[in-house]
Amino acid sequence: MRYLFLAMAMVSIGGAAYAQEILGFDTAGSKAQYSLEADFDAKLDKQEMDAWLKKFSARPHHVGSTAGKENAILIADLLRSWGYEVEIAEYEILLPTPITRELELVSPTKFTASLEEDSLPEDPSTSVRDELLPPYNAFSIDGDVEGELVFVNYGRPEDYEVLERHGIDVAGKIAIAKYGMSWRGIKPKLAGEKGAIGTIIYSDPADEGYGAGDVYPKGPFKHPSAVQRGSVMDMPTYPGDVLTPGIGATKRARRLGIKDAETITKIPVLPISERDALPLLAAMGGAVVPPEWRGGFPVTYHFGPGPARVHLKVEFNWQKVTAYDVIATLKGSEYPDEWVIRGNHHDGWNHGAADPLSGLVALLAEARSVAELAKAGRPPRRTIVYAAWDAEEPGLIGSTEWAEHHARDLKEHAVAYLNTDGSSRGFIGIGGSHVLERFFNQIMEDVQDPRMDISLKERRRALLKLNAKTEREKDDARNRSDLRIYPMGSGSDYTPFLQHLGIASANMGFGGEGAGGSYHTLYDTYEHYSTWRDPGLVYGEALAQVAGRATLRLANAPRLPFEFKGLADNISLYITELEELADKRRNDIELRNNLLDDGTYAAALDPTKTLGPPKREEPVPYFNFAPLKNAIDRLQRAADAYHEAAASGTSPSREVNKLLYSSERLLTREAGLSGRSWYKHHIYAPGFYTGYGVKTIPGVREAIEQSEYDAVQEQVEIASQVIDRMSQRIESIVAIEAN
Ligand SMILES: [Zn+2]
Repeated sequence: MRYLFLAMAMVSIGGAAYAQEILGFDTAGSKAQYSLEADFDAKLDKQEMDAWLKKFSARPHHVGSTAGKENAILIADLLRSWGYEVEIAEYEILLPTPITRELELVSPTKFTASLEEDSLPEDPSTSVRDELLPPYNAFSIDGDVEGELVFVNYGRPEDYEVLERHGIDVAGKIAIAKYGMSWRGIKPKLAGEKGAIGTIIYSDPADEGYGAGDVYPKGPFKHPSAVQRGSVMDMPTYPGDVLTPGIGATKRARRLGIKDAETITKIPVLPISERDALPLLAAMGGAVVPPEWRGGFPVTYHFGPGPARVHLKVEFNWQKVTAYDVIATLKGSEYPDEWVIRGNHHDGWNHGAADPLSGLVALLAEARSVAELAKAGRPPRRTIVYAAWDAEEPGLIGSTEWAEHHARDLKEHAVAYLNTDGSSRGFIGIGGSHVLERFFNQIMEDVQDPRMDISLKERRRALLKLNAKTEREKDDARNRSDLRIYPMGSGSDYTPFLQHLGIASANMGFGGEGAGGSYHTLYDTYEHYSTWRDPGLVYGEALAQVAGRATLRLANAPRLPFEFKGLADNISLYITELEELADKRRNDIELRNNLLDDGTYAAALDPTKTLGPPKREEPVPYFNFAPLKNAIDRLQRAADAYHEAAASGTSPSREVNKLLYSSERLLTREAGLSGRSWYKHHIYAPGFYTGYGVKTIPGVREAIEQSEYDAVQEQVEIASQVIDRMSQRIESIVAIEAN
């Protein structure tokens, strides 16, 4: 132990870690905190993390399964044994599981899809199939349909524009879409809006299979029989239990009827493997797709419709199951009513080694270390809550239900929510509330890359410098002292905390080097993870160092480390992007309309091909962004003033800390976003038509993107007011501190 501590400290000094004062601490406090963190690091144990990974991924452990419940109990027992007060919060949630899955090509040739994944002798876990859920998309509606196939590429809005120019309509047809490029739930949502009667989603070998690299078990990429499971619930409308939007799914909660649940798909959908997709695509005719739509199969890709006709039948058991959220609390010694929440889900679609257990074992290692420090007389000053969520996979259900159930207390007490999920190796990626941008930059400076003698921040900056494309990205990578943390859309358990409750949140993980196609397939096993992702969990340990520092600093800082200059700078960037978006859209549409009018399209298009001219579009009016610019100007000034006030070094009052941590709430409005009131944050939201992908200042951005020009000005006003409320808050903090 002692030896380990010295080794860690020296590494840190080599990385110049002790050179700075930690945000929110004075000099003496920083020194004590650095010493605490060195002890925290010394207690992390990769072998133990690896053993947990192996144990919890031994069997499929989706919500509602025996192994899922047993894992929850084991996790609770561990946390209790370390000294946490542990509760298993139970929610009764709707979880459809498949009864019937049938897909056949009925003409011009016959083929029946196997819809099964192969067990591999090289990976014994793939033969452990207790209660394994077969490949399906959760929250597809039941359906029995037959129709011609239309190939829709990735099934995004822009793909339908291409189809339209080729005169192809999916109405009454079955859309076949590739996985990737958008969140999967968008594919059936959009196909349904366009009149399709069913959707098939497949994994193209170019993206994750043999076109990308050697396939499992020879390499990490997608086995030809592998199928990505996953939810197609309409999460951009609301996540969580489909029957209890906005309230906790307790036993006695008032529930919607299944037919009234808005977030279940309107048409049936089924995911299939590369092996099952090839005969379908090979049987298709019609015009040849553009080059950028082609995938990796050795066939010519056609749009259809037909002559391939398929019969698709899916039927589900719409039963309620119990979700088990493990909630472990360590009371703060000085500010017990201020809570730092750190979560990762525990349910997986299958064995779930990468997703979610690679993140969960980091959380467990952190929790053990923090508890031991507390026992040795160094408890956290604020309360720390460790959460292992259930039912994330079908739609962020466990976290959403808990957050909705405890909404009032969380709004009052939650300082921040820190999330991890599946992690890999390579470069640190951090997203979240920009009030925490400076805070996380310090952490990236203070943690070393486990394989190189540089900090995580230096390593990430090197990557950004290499990959920067635009002038702005180049300038940021070279000259911006803080690396930007990315704005969050959705895709993991931070969504209810950030976007529904307005709790400052972050998501952390490593990636970029541990490639592969095991995601949500039978092959996301311990064997796959420890061979191809993060052998020995060296980056898993680094993740625990990052998330552990974030948790401990937020728990112990005399002044909560919220900072507003980064927030102002990022919002300012988003406003610039909105102006550029409007200008670009205006110019593009005007150009296309002119080319239509002067006959250019007619003259240039190949008359033997089906590609027609684009349709005429409504011109984009000029918008007045001045209210946003005035708002950001005020925010920048307020942020500078707070920066000065905080630098004076005095410890703030409890009142000030509360004003600081509750400031993120002011970026939300009770009325929510237009058409989806569950989403209340007005700076960050998942895109209505991108799913996981973020839309910043979503009210304004989506009104422009979706050609709802009449709504833009009102949305500009709303966003400006939200930013003004934040400025007002910061100004009032500065005023208190001046007294
Ligand atoms: Zn996950």
